[in-house]
Amino acid sequence: MAKNIIQFQKGLSLPKFLEKYGTEEQCYSALFHLRWPDGFVCPECGNKTYCEIKSRKVYQCHRCHRQTSLTSGTIFAATKVPLTKWFLAIYLLTQRKTSVSALQLKRGIGVSYNTAWKMKHKLMQVLLEREKGKKLSGRIEIDDAYIGGERPGKPGRGAAHKAPFIA
Ligand SMILES: [Zn+2]
Repeated sequence: MAKNIIQFQKGLSLPKFLEKYGTEEQCYSALFHLRWPDGFVCPECGNKTYCEIKSRKVYQCHRCHRQTSLTSGTIFAATKVPLTKWFLAIYLLTQRKTSVSALQLKRGIGVSYNTAWKMKHKLMQVLLEREKGKKLSGRIEIDDAYIGGERPGKPGRGAAHKAPFIA
C-alpha cells in the first residue's frame, strides 16, 4: 500500500501546531486527506464508493464490503494512542535539533513510558528507513500552506528542510 508522509513545517510554533492539530477531528481529517487525497479508495479492490460506519469509525466498500479504518495499515494502527498524541510526538521529535528521549516524550505527550518508547521506536524507524533512501511509493507531501496556515513565500522548499514521517 502507499506510504504517506506526515511532515510539519520547520519552525512551526507549538501554539500554531496545536491550533491546527489540537483535536482528534483535526488530526483525523489531516490523516484522511494524506492517505486518500482524492477521496477514499478501497485497499482491497480499488473501488471508491463506500459508506461510513460512524460508530466503529470504519469505511465500508460498496463493492467488496471490506471495512477499512483510517489507521489500518499505518504505524498508527493497533494502538490505543489517540492521533493527537501521535501528531504531537512527531512534532516533538522533528522540531528539535537534539534527540528526544522516550522519557521526554512520555512527559511531553502524557503517555506511559512503555508507550512513549514504542512510539518513538516506530517513528524513528520510519525516519531511518527514509534516510536510508528507501524508495517510497505514493509519496505525498502536505503543503506548507496546509500545515502552517501560511505560506512562507518559498514555494518548493527543499525536502531536506522538512522532517518527514511515514504514516
Ligand atoms: Zn472494495
